[in-house]
Amino acid sequence: MKVSKQDVLDAAKGMLDKGLVAGTAGNVSGRVDEDRVCLTPSSVAYETMTLDDLVVTDLQGNVLEGTRGPTSEKALHLACYRRYPEIAGVIHSHAAHATMFALVHEPIPAIIEEVVVYLGGDIPICDYKGTGTDDLGEEVASRLADRSAAILANHGIVSVGNSPDKALHNAELVERTAMIVWGARALGTPIPLPEKVNRNMSGVYKMFRENPDM
Ligand SMILES: [Zn+2]
Repeated sequence: MKVSKQDVLDAAKGMLDKGLVAGTAGNVSGRVDEDRVCLTPSSVAYETMTLDDLVVTDLQGNVLEGTRGPTSEKALHLACYRRYPEIAGVIHSHAAHATMFALVHEPIPAIIEEVVVYLGGDIPICDYKGTGTDDLGEEVASRLADRSAAILANHGIVSVGNSPDKALHNAELVERTAMIVWGARALGTPIPLPEKVNRNMSGVYKMFRENPDM
């Protein structure tokens, strides 16, 4: 699960390309080894961001490499790595449809099979905590024991994975699901997956989560 700085940079640019953030919003990180994390810096445009702009810290946030300050949301990233050794990529984005659910404080229901397989089930809504605070980090991390994404009340989303690329894939899946559920509700009442299917698929999620190198 070795993550390079290039992996973090690629995911940061991918997040912008896929329309999950605008301007300098959002942030990306990857676990470079057991107790070091590479994070995007605060206030640098993704278009011009280079490897030299990235920052390496320990799990407490002490800067070990880099000349810039790490993202102001570093507490969010570090709380996920401290709690879950299998997580090696974290992305925080402000994707529009997912953020709609953040405004009404509603989970995004897992009524599409791939959502259960990749994200573990319904995408939970975290209690509101101020942006950039340790409390927000702990609140978000506490929701990710059996999920790979969570919604930040009145703010945006966080997704995780065993690499920055997988975390980006999960961020896209959250956004696409939010858009589909929003549209489905305009057409009628979305029907949940059969309980048995849900159980089986969440078993597949757990297997991948516990064996990140599979
Ligand atoms: Zn944010």
